[in-house]
Amino acid sequence: MSKFDLSKAGFGTAAIHAGQNPDPVYGALATPIFQTSTYCFETVEEGCGKFSKQIPGFVYSRSGNPTTAALEQKIAFLEGGEACVATASGMGAIGSVLVALLKAGDHVIAGNCVYGCTSFVMHDTLAKFGVSVSFVDTSDLKAVEAAIRPETKIIYFETPTNPTMVITDIGAISELAHKHAIRVVVDNTFAPPPIQYPIKCGADISLHSVTKYLNGHGDVIGGAVVGRADDIALIRGSAMTKLCGSSPSPFNSYLVLRGMQTLELRMARHCANGAALAKWLAANPYVDRVYYPGLDGAQSELIKKQMNGFTGAMISFELKDGVNGMDSFTACKKMINALKLVSIAVSLGDPETLIQHPASMTHGNMSKEDRLAAGISDGLIRLSAGLENTEDLISDFEQAFAAI
Ligand code: PLP
Repeated sequence: MSKFDLSKAGFGTAAIHAGQNPDPVYGALATPIFQTSTYCFETVEEGCGKFSKQIPGFVYSRSGNPTTAALEQKIAFLEGGEACVATASGMGAIGSVLVALLKAGDHVIAGNCVYGCTSFVMHDTLAKFGVSVSFVDTSDLKAVEAAIRPETKIIYFETPTNPTMVITDIGAISELAHKHAIRVVVDNTFAPPPIQYPIKCGADISLHSVTKYLNGHGDVIGGAVVGRADDIALIRGSAMTKLCGSSPSPFNSYLVLRGMQTLELRMARHCANGAALAKWLAANPYVDRVYYPGLDGAQSELIKKQMNGFTGAMISFELKDGVNGMDSFTACKKMINALKLVSIAVSLGDPETLIQHPASMTHGNMSKEDRLAAGISDGLIRLSAGLENTEDLISDFEQAFAAI
């Protein structure tokens, strides 16, 4: 860690320096990429000591690597957690948490609207291992309370939800959960620091698809889990490095370290573009509904408190049925196909603004019934506001809407 007391530093300073120190061998400023699978020991005794953790150090890169360790320190520091384990993908993070913390007979309360692959794991995979799941709108505290059973071990949700942007009160859910000795796991991908700090709000675990804003450059698949040191040791030791085996490559850890140094600047620009596009879409006569935190005035106090005054850069919207005789989705396809700057792609948090159709893409593996229950209509479009100049994005949408 930096010699400067980063606990007193601003977010931007910490994002640059946390976890990163000049290399002690050559003084390299940038954290080196330790592209190695294994580590040599001077003696058998040293190897035994490192394996038994009596001597600190690395033994094999599936269980730990210096480049990845720097990334883990940075993410833990910025999230305000005791420890972090980095993973090869967001799904690697989610799988590692579930495998480590659950056993047959346990019960999970999961948000009814989550990323499509998470939904698949919750609906299909966990049942194979004897874990039952109840799906609840976690923004409804009473509904969460009613779903609690003696065997409930985890309450799992996204806030804002992907793709309906519903906000759950992390503090209120955590207070309720902890009365019943239940862990709260928040997927913080859509609102990373400096927007939202689930652990500071009371959650036990905050996890990320690092692929998105933390890396921020659209060139890495990665994940991370942050929490108490004992939970992270359990997740790393029993699940991530064993059954899941989902360690990130040192090169990807290096790219994410580099990307995270500009997280504060990027998030401010992403959020400014998100707010501007949401406002512009809401005023568009072809648009039926825009899903964006705080746009309809609902939950404004919670958003101010929990999201530190930011409203994020993810927007969903539906077009009106009947525009020029077309149903909502046909009109959407026409508009999207006419975009010249915005790319049609899944993922989010990249410099490029991305647009996609959740019902057939990110959430296409959900049953229609589950999808509609989660509020994901056939005509819903999701937009990740990138880092371009706002006027260029609006002018691209203007010409695309004119083509409907
Ligand atoms: N969580 C959320 C909210 C996501 O949107 C995604 C991917 O889109 C994931 C988790 C999975 O992350 P990854 O694609 O890095 O495995």
